[in-house]
Amino acid sequence: MWKTVRIFLLLLVLLAVALHSWLDARATQSWQEPLWVGLFPLNGDGSALTQQYLAALNARDFAAIEDFFAREGKRFGLKLEQPVHVELYPPGPKLPPALDPGAGPLGIAWWSLKLRWFAAHAAEVPGRAPSRIRLFLLYHDPATLEHAPDSHGLQKGLIGVVHLFADPSMAGSNGIVIAHELLHTVGASDKYDLGSGAPRFPLGYADRDQQPLYPQERAEIMAGRRAVSAYQSDMPRTLASVVVGPETALEIRWTH
Ligand SMILES: [Zn+2]
Repeated sequence: MWKTVRIFLLLLVLLAVALHSWLDARATQSWQEPLWVGLFPLNGDGSALTQQYLAALNARDFAAIEDFFAREGKRFGLKLEQPVHVELYPPGPKLPPALDPGAGPLGIAWWSLKLRWFAAHAAEVPGRAPSRIRLFLLYHDPATLEHAPDSHGLQKGLIGVVHLFADPSMAGSNGIVIAHELLHTVGASDKYDLGSGAPRFPLGYADRDQQPLYPQERAEIMAGRRAVSAYQSDMPRTLASVVVGPETALEIRWTH
């Protein structure tokens, strides 16, 4: 008898979680009103330089992200003039739990639970409206870190952990990384080769019908890079040279 009750309760919890994820996905892919995206800057390396950079950040530094979604949404016939609203919150004191690079499926599941717990508390800023998507921006001094650690955007939980460089000259490429992870949270998948990092053809190419094919001037956002030759790719400087491809538009339900 009790065993049946326990199993029933467990099934009920699992069903509630699944329903919640489904409702989240529906709400974030409806594009009926601007999607509120909270940006939570954090000091990723604890350095004084990063702290200075954080203190100087303001909402204007992220306006290019809103412009990017407005421009690309319009291209796909979206009626909404501003699909994404980014809201900058003051720098927070605590870092999100780190994902062990060698973590298996169970380790990843545990990490994502801890991350949800962290996000629920860290994203609560007194006097400020809660945002639907929460992106934790971990800034690093580029002098002490050659490559930023992997960023993660999770559709389940609507959370992103984004690693960026604390350098004003990299604000453009930081914007590309933020837009990429934001798109993961609303259902977009990667369009680059996970081994080499090169854009996948054709879906990772912005101008796939171009003759000659190389060099590509623009990048597809979920590829993140543009192929300049058959063997080389680079990251554009700003979101002005980045587009949303038709496959990505379908995944996030800009098209059907
Ligand atoms: Zn990605």
